[in-house]
Amino acid sequence: MLKCLFQNSLVFMMNDQRGRFPRKSYDVIIIGAGSIGTPIAFYLSRSGFSTLVIDSEPSVGQGSNKRAIGGIRATHSDPAKIALCQRSIEIFSTWKDTFGDEIEWVKGGYCFVAYRDIEKKSLIDLLSKQRAFNLEIDWYEKEELSKIVPDLNAEGLLGGTFSPNDGNASPLLSTHAFYSHSVEQGVVFRFREIVTGFMNSGDTVTGVKTNMGEYGGKYIILAAGAGSRILGQLISLDLPVFPDSHEAAITEPVQRFLNPMIVDIRPKADSSNFYFYQHFTGQVVFCITPSPNEWGTEIRETSSFLPMVSTRLLEVMPRLFNLRVRRTWRGLYPMTPDGFPLVGAVTERPGFILATGMCGQGFMLGPGIAELIVRMITNNLYIGDEMILDYLSPYRKFDKQELLK
Ligand SMILES: Cc1cc2nc3c(=O)[nH]c(=O)nc-3n(C[C@H](O)[C@H](O)[C@H](O)COP(=O)(O)OP(=O)(O)OC[C@H]3O[C@@H](n4cnc5c(N)ncnc54)[C@H](O)[C@@H]3O)c2cc1C
Repeated sequence: MLKCLFQNSLVFMMNDQRGRFPRKSYDVIIIGAGSIGTPIAFYLSRSGFSTLVIDSEPSVGQGSNKRAIGGIRATHSDPAKIALCQRSIEIFSTWKDTFGDEIEWVKGGYCFVAYRDIEKKSLIDLLSKQRAFNLEIDWYEKEELSKIVPDLNAEGLLGGTFSPNDGNASPLLSTHAFYSHSVEQGVVFRFREIVTGFMNSGDTVTGVKTNMGEYGGKYIILAAGAGSRILGQLISLDLPVFPDSHEAAITEPVQRFLNPMIVDIRPKADSSNFYFYQHFTGQVVFCITPSPNEWGTEIRETSSFLPMVSTRLLEVMPRLFNLRVRRTWRGLYPMTPDGFPLVGAVTERPGFILATGMCGQGFMLGPGIAELIVRMITNNLYIGDEMILDYLSPYRKFDKQELLK
């Protein structure tokens, strides 16, 4: 049926006016081959849509995707991200058995620690919301938590939550897996090509212009991460997606001693939350949210990051003292004012769909969001999808703050 609906859009092919290559039309054009655009291409092409993905980088996942540290959890503070990431976890955790690719999924769990009453209360208050979605998560007092994570600093520890079904996987391997299966399914990827504008018919967006030519599309999906705001401006949309620079690091490998991702949401003078885990190959990987945020697109490493983060690491896990850091890197969160993504159709620009503003969680949200977009385009929303789309609506008021962002 879909093929029928869209067969007309496949047919025209004409010479680009500048003669550089043929102009083609697709059912869907996705801007961005990252954590979000690539899974969307995979699920759209499985549903029979002819799909083009354009990215300015030379290959898949070279934007924020490859800078993510790989954390995947469903234990969020709002129903939309919980539901989307539950589905993502189903997909990541069964990917190897279903499709054969090694994406390094490890079910290590997540542990949010509390050293102050205020975080203890917040984490306990959240449990009922999280359990309403059948998430396996519980609060553990200090002694019980110390059995799950023996190396936590016991001094001042009040306890924490532990959710055993969360985990981690390789962002680059996962995105590459979505990419290679998309290619098998007929998706066209155009790398080293920059989207510079849009084609319009009245208010309707009918295609994209790049530095190499033009492509027609019934639907244009903006999945350009931290580059989304600039692209929105090209069609007079003021999208609240702001590049926010974050740094991460990896140590030398050591014998396995730590299973879950540890998250500390205590705000400090120079940073808000920070998180770390031990990769299955032995390295400890960590990341921190500086305070105030470092807005902008700067991705050169800083000299302030390691002193800031190592102080906090040792406070929570003194055992890390002798670990040597091998490498640091920096990347961009596509941040929104409230920490929730922007997903949905732009009503004043028919044909234009947003899948952006993923903040610090685009890797884990990717597969869940991708399936949702397909259901949206095919008019096949599940019960519960309307609620998710309301939370992520580009037209919301942006007056809430996500607790665990
Ligand atoms: C240090 C760090 C740690 C992180 N850790 C995690 C984590 O543990 N778990 C998690 O879920 N998330 C994590 N994230 C966040 C995650 O990386 C992002 O949320 C996610 O990658 C965003 O996905 P995206 O597809 O929107 O953007 P991207 O992956 O950046 O993809 C967007 C693509 O659009 C392309 N593009 C942009 N503009 C144009 C244009 N004009 N023309 C053509 N192409 C264009 C870019 O080249 C890019 O490839 C982390 C991020 C950082 C920086």
